[in-house]
Amino acid sequence: MHQRIEQIRSRMRDAARRCGRDPESIRLVAVSKKVSAERVRQAIAEGIHVFGENYVQEARGKIDRLSGLGVSWHFIGHLQSNKARQAVALFDLIHSVDSLKLAHALNREAAKANKVQPVLMQVNIGRETTKSGVSASEANRLAREIGSLENLALQGLMAMPPYSDDPEKTRPYFTALKDLRDRLQGGLDSDLKNKIHLQELSMGMTADFEVAIECGATIIRVGTALFGARD
Ligand SMILES: *Cc1c(COP(=O)(O)O)cnc(C)c1O
Repeated sequence: MHQRIEQIRSRMRDAARRCGRDPESIRLVAVSKKVSAERVRQAIAEGIHVFGENYVQEARGKIDRLSGLGVSWHFIGHLQSNKARQAVALFDLIHSVDSLKLAHALNREAAKANKVQPVLMQVNIGRETTKSGVSASEANRLAREIGSLENLALQGLMAMPPYSDDPEKTRPYFTALKDLRDRLQGGLDSDLKNKIHLQELSMGMTADFEVAIECGATIIRVGTALFGARD
């Protein structure tokens, strides 16, 4: 695992340098779905401190077992409104807000927990029927609505473009997400401009994180390259 992590970090640095970005401005989220708490513990020992989980139930067990180690947990899977309470209790950043119903549920639970919950809005940038996320045309409206909720802090956008084994084919989708972010931020009314800062772009996985960094990713979500293939 040590070597894998070193390799990812060096590829992140190279990609950042190629486009004149500070490598420190890009966060690595280690995607630990289907990875045991013991292997996560190993990754923590290697200096990884942010983990991404797709399933609330699975995550809860690991978070319990690994509490007190100072790591941060992100939720990156599809979230159902009835899991909002647990999600607010467990996660420092929820990447996958894709409906007003879910946003309201999270806002309500965050208020009860006395927390301002950081969230990202998931965009279905490739318009795939199999993927969740709002369409680019709905994004404007949902961003304003999320932005007006007291107990949510909308910090940016997340996307999972159509899979391709050629990362260059994914580049246009990453660029589209960044352009959408820039348009959304630029188009906010002055009352929301002070509240919403869409600084995060969560995009790029094992197959394409270097291209994502070149396109402006601030958070990459890497599973396989770090933990090996999942069964
Ligand atoms: C599983 C998953 C990842 C990690 O994928 P890898 O190809 O293993 O790096 C990233 N983001 C989301 C939303 C995922 O579900």
